[in-house]
Amino acid sequence: LLEYVPPSPEELKPRPPIVTVMGHVDHGKTTLLDAIRHTDVAAREAGGITQHIGAYKVRLPDGREITFIDTPGHEAFTSMRARGAQVTDLVILVVAADDGVMDQTREAIDHARAAGVPIVVAINKIDKPDANPERVKSELAELGLVPEDWGGETLMAEVSAKKRQGIEDLLELVLLQAEMLDLKAAPDRPARGRIIESRLDKGKGPVATVIVQEGTLREGDPFVAGMTFGRVRAMLNERGERLKEAPPATPVEVLGFEEVPQAGDDFIVMPDETAARRVAEYRQRKAREAEAAREARLSLERVFEKLKEGEVKELKIVLKADVQGTLEALRDALQKLSTDEVRVNIIRAGIGAISESDVMLAAASDAVVIGFNVRPTGKAKEIAKQEKVDIRFYDVIYQAIDEVKKALSGMLEPEYEERIVGVAEVRATFRVPRVGTVAGCYVKEGKLVRGGSVRLLREGVVVYNGKIVSLKRFKEDVKEVAAGYECGVGLENFQDIKEGDVIEAFEMVEIRREV
Ligand code: GDP
Repeated sequence: LLEYVPPSPEELKPRPPIVTVMGHVDHGKTTLLDAIRHTDVAAREAGGITQHIGAYKVRLPDGREITFIDTPGHEAFTSMRARGAQVTDLVILVVAADDGVMDQTREAIDHARAAGVPIVVAINKIDKPDANPERVKSELAELGLVPEDWGGETLMAEVSAKKRQGIEDLLELVLLQAEMLDLKAAPDRPARGRIIESRLDKGKGPVATVIVQEGTLREGDPFVAGMTFGRVRAMLNERGERLKEAPPATPVEVLGFEEVPQAGDDFIVMPDETAARRVAEYRQRKAREAEAAREARLSLERVFEKLKEGEVKELKIVLKADVQGTLEALRDALQKLSTDEVRVNIIRAGIGAISESDVMLAAASDAVVIGFNVRPTGKAKEIAKQEKVDIRFYDVIYQAIDEVKKALSGMLEPEYEERIVGVAEVRATFRVPRVGTVAGCYVKEGKLVRGGSVRLLREGVVVYNGKIVSLKRFKEDVKEVAAGYECGVGLENFQDIKEGDVIEAFEMVEIRREV
């Protein structure tokens, strides 16, 4: 039912580009999107901007159009991509001229690159007295985004989103970049698209913003969307005006879903409602089966299996470490492991705990996360589990290199695997004469064992690796303390324990390999 015949060249017609705005927090993404909305001719004719939906189309005075996805930031971008839904053709990277390139600027570049989406730079806030666009350019050039006027290929516009200056020039560059992409879609077919956002509206029932990617969507069309289905009862644009049809690259709010779909779900017009229902039910059944098989975690070994089978010619790695020196050393060493047949591609290298953004990037790119003396944040851990992203931890450089090396040559044989046996939180610290610092802890999961191996995490970074030398409950020495209880913990040769630290107890277990 869902068999897809790609359109023939004769069917294809030019379509507007679909653009996402990314950049560091407070560099002006929201303000810029707002300024762009004000350039829309249609909105001016309609007497202003009334609605707010997750995407909108801007028409320039000469009739050309650009579609914007109105969820700035790379989280939305990458979580869509992780679900196989790449709708963005082009990224506008906003960099504040007074602030320059920051962490999330770099992250955004990594995300856009991993998706293979070209970047147009908006150097924003040039109205500020301390604006320094030249510095921004040289910082970007260092990251490989060399401005055109310096002989590079990256289009850059200097703008003030707040004063609405330079916006036309920016949009001009966006259209120029889009022209090079030669974007086309077939308008004369049943529509296909993606869900950008969705919600349950008290009056309207389940509604979703759909971006049409191919064909033309019409009122009355039956459709399947992810695991739900429906019939287009009404379509509204960003100004709340009712539309009869929506051609490619048009975002519309659609009413008539059976249930609320999820952002990132596909949206496919079907011959009739019975067929739509059947596909939705089939997908629900498949999803339940997949849930049952979820245990089968995508492990490093599996990635290497794929490597060996020639499916992947590249091992992608997201690398996080505690300090710059180690990060660089590891990055260089890992990159040197590339051979003619397999390439190590470090798609992101950064300092600090493994974040949600790191895990999402890995999920979207089929990469492995390597953490050196760092751990994932709670949310990142959860997402890694959900998205089946493999995270590997190391605290000795040569071990990390060795394992990747062995893996690359198809000889990966990890004999031991680490298992977390307990997690405790440090709630207070005490100085005890002749003993040193004792941590008053609460065991959250598993148990702590005297003599057991532990590490101490401070905001996700490993600050100590060693053993529990003393373990007490109410001044009594005990062998172990289970979850739900408080205890006093002394660490071997380590006094610098702080409130808020997390103790992670682990043991090494032998892995039985199948022959
Ligand atoms: P976002 O976090 O990237 O979405 O940033 P916002 O759009 O919320 O902007 C952050 C702050 O910068 C706000 O106080 C804006 O008013 C201000 N801002 C945004 N663009 C400009 C600009 O072009 N010039 C100046 N002076 N301030 C700006």
